[in-house]
Amino acid sequence: MDRYILVHYHEVGLKKNNREFFERKLKQNIELALHGLPYGRVRRISGRLLIQLPDGAEPDQMAERLRDVFGIAYFAFSWLSNQDLDRLAQDAWSLMEGRRFSSFAVNTKRGEKSFPLNSVQISAKVGAYIGLKSGARVDLEHPDLTCFIEIVETFAFLYFEKRKARGGLPVSTGGRVAVLLSGGIDSPVAAYRIIKRGCRAVFVHFHSFPHTTLDSQEKVRNLVRILARFQYSGRLYLVPFADIQRQIVAFAPPPIRIVLYRRFMVRIAEALAFKERAGALVTGESIGQVASQTLENIRAIAEAATLPILRPLIGDDKQDIISLAQDIGTLETSIQPDQDCCTLFIPKHPHTKVTLPIVRAAEAQLDVDGLVSDAVSHVAMEDHGIPSAPAKADGNI
Ligand code: ATP
Ligand code: MG
Repeated sequence: MDRYILVHYHEVGLKKNNREFFERKLKQNIELALHGLPYGRVRRISGRLLIQLPDGAEPDQMAERLRDVFGIAYFAFSWLSNQDLDRLAQDAWSLMEGRRFSSFAVNTKRGEKSFPLNSVQISAKVGAYIGLKSGARVDLEHPDLTCFIEIVETFAFLYFEKRKARGGLPVSTGGRVAVLLSGGIDSPVAAYRIIKRGCRAVFVHFHSFPHTTLDSQEKVRNLVRILARFQYSGRLYLVPFADIQRQIVAFAPPPIRIVLYRRFMVRIAEALAFKERAGALVTGESIGQVASQTLENIRAIAEAATLPILRPLIGDDKQDIISLAQDIGTLETSIQPDQDCCTLFIPKHPHTKVTLPIVRAAEAQLDVDGLVSDAVSHVAMEDHGIPSAPAKADGNI
């Protein structure tokens, strides 16, 4: 029997008119994710994708990578059998024969409604044969082993294990965003959440070198490399922020500095977003987590940008964010000690209710446009890939 991975998507299937577009992107992303591993043709069949498994395929590695391809609900290593029910039952038994089980279930999905028997009838027929051969009892609630059958188009597939993936939507179906990436715990998780909804992220990091060491930049590079696993590339802009901080420190009262820093950050990130044709900014802010994340201060920061600012973590608890950071593999890097640019020159008690008149009065003393364009002209741009993917994997292929 030929081997295939049967890939199921969920939300993609709901996009009526755009379904083909979503499926095509999912197929391209699967190919990018599997790059470097042996795999055969990837093709779309009704409501599913099919990946041919050649001899010498490496199932564990494939499974690890497919789990991270957004848009996939679950996938299964399957065998291609035959729509003739006698042969299907024999094939199912030949795959189960070597396994130990005292109870089993047969679970059939029938994509083709034209097929003469319905799914319950197919399960009953195959189940009767397996029962006879094995002597095991049928248990639909808690079976030791489940034989899944899928009848789709002209195919009949058999498999025994559904492997859960992360869901979401295929990367590059949702446009681009610019993520403000600190070295902290939150912003990498925010990036993950937005990439999972189909957006492609470019990353913007502000550093205060030489006031801070180069380590914080290396830390952010490592975070980008981890996140690149989910979108097959990662562009990072490193923005020198020390000059702006010096100006703010010289002219603005300490309690409002953090809001001013953030306003400059969103202005600069927006300029880079325009260059990248990104449609929104993304931050790791969460209501009430720190002094700059009160409603008033969020509003004062947002006013400096014209693009929408997306905050995927806005209502999340810290512990949930930490758990997700652990799951996606960014936590270990995020918790390494570093010197964030914003911990410099920050008073113990920042103003929690900065209003627009206050920030405007402070900024009136600064050459805002000049500082922003100066910072933008000094950014360093880096492209980070993942070892398994081609260096430049453009979303528009
Ligand atoms: P994080 O864990 O992401 O650093 P945080 O809870 O520490 O978030 P803040 O330090 O107030 O919160 O930062 C709020 C958001 O501002 C961050 O999530 C990030 O999106 C952005 N940000 C803060 N510092 C930087 C930086 N140095 N470079 C880029 N973005 C930053
Ligand atoms: Mg932080």
